[in-house]
Amino acid sequence: MTMMIKLNNGVEMPALGLGVFQTAPEATTDAVTAALATGYRLIDTAAAYGNEREVGDAIRRSGVDRAEVFIETKIWVTDYGYDKTLHAFEKSAAKLDVDQLDLLLLHQPVPTAFDTTIDAYRALEQLLADGRVRAIGVSNFTPELLAELRNRTEIVPAVNQIELHPYYTQPDVQTADAELGTLTQAWSPIGGITSYRGGTRPTFADPTILDIAAAHGKTAAQVMIRWHLQQGRSAIPKSVRPQRIAENFAVFDFQLTTEQIAAIDALKTGERGGIDPASISADGFGLIIPEA
Ligand code: NDP
Repeated sequence: MTMMIKLNNGVEMPALGLGVFQTAPEATTDAVTAALATGYRLIDTAAAYGNEREVGDAIRRSGVDRAEVFIETKIWVTDYGYDKTLHAFEKSAAKLDVDQLDLLLLHQPVPTAFDTTIDAYRALEQLLADGRVRAIGVSNFTPELLAELRNRTEIVPAVNQIELHPYYTQPDVQTADAELGTLTQAWSPIGGITSYRGGTRPTFADPTILDIAAAHGKTAAQVMIRWHLQQGRSAIPKSVRPQRIAENFAVFDFQLTTEQIAAIDALKTGERGGIDPASISADGFGLIIPEA
């Protein structure tokens, strides 16, 4: 079973999906294959992850009907600009080998070149109008940048994908999203970023989360995923291991109490693990997205 969320344009999206950031291309087909076999129907990739082709391969080979799988990808900042972004869609669609994408996001705002970010978003609006994508959105947008986007474009983003785990919850962004009717989707939802960059305080070892997990006979990861789902967020945990991919999906048979959710909410430190959106520049760290 899974849980669906209705986006602000009526499109239904699975709340829980598999993320594939830092999943090497050669590991991606197996990870996505394992996820689809487990029951996942949402895959979150990005042009910048370099594995769209393998995501597409796995979906095609899985035997699962294309219409049942919700494919989400992101335009990288070096492809921002109206015409460049339209072309970037063609690159991603060709690599994924699909005619239509379910959700297309701008990967990062570029605050120092926001006119170009706006032009990129206008290209997403055109792709939506043309039926090439079913929904459009953004990632790593702050309340201020969301407001500016709203002032200068027509379509309310369906999704804002942001860093969100028990130690960093961005309540201001969540409020801004909710006011717009934009779904907040959590990246690093189980706090991967608190551990894989040599972090000394991983969410997986948090005593409060482990206590709650023990009370339910569940794991820390499962508790964190429930914490998102019960608060109406989408979450896209990443793993390359079939056992963890299955573990992260076995979350539909228990409920956290209000007190347990509040206890996890109270763990926030306000310390971001990822890049500050304000520091992203138009050269996008020199990453150029290859043609299909
Ligand atoms: P996650 O919170 O999903 O954590 C992933 C890490 O945790 C990996 O190191 C994984 O290792 C490990 N892990 C997975 N499941 C378990 C488990 N059950 N128990 C213990 N460890 C586990 O972090 P990510 O940063 O990967 O975020 C998830 C997704 O969000 C990305 O894949 C991507 O799709 C998206 N994202 C988007 C960003 C953006 O800017 N828009 C930025 C970062 C991520 P292993 O694979 O070895 O199991």
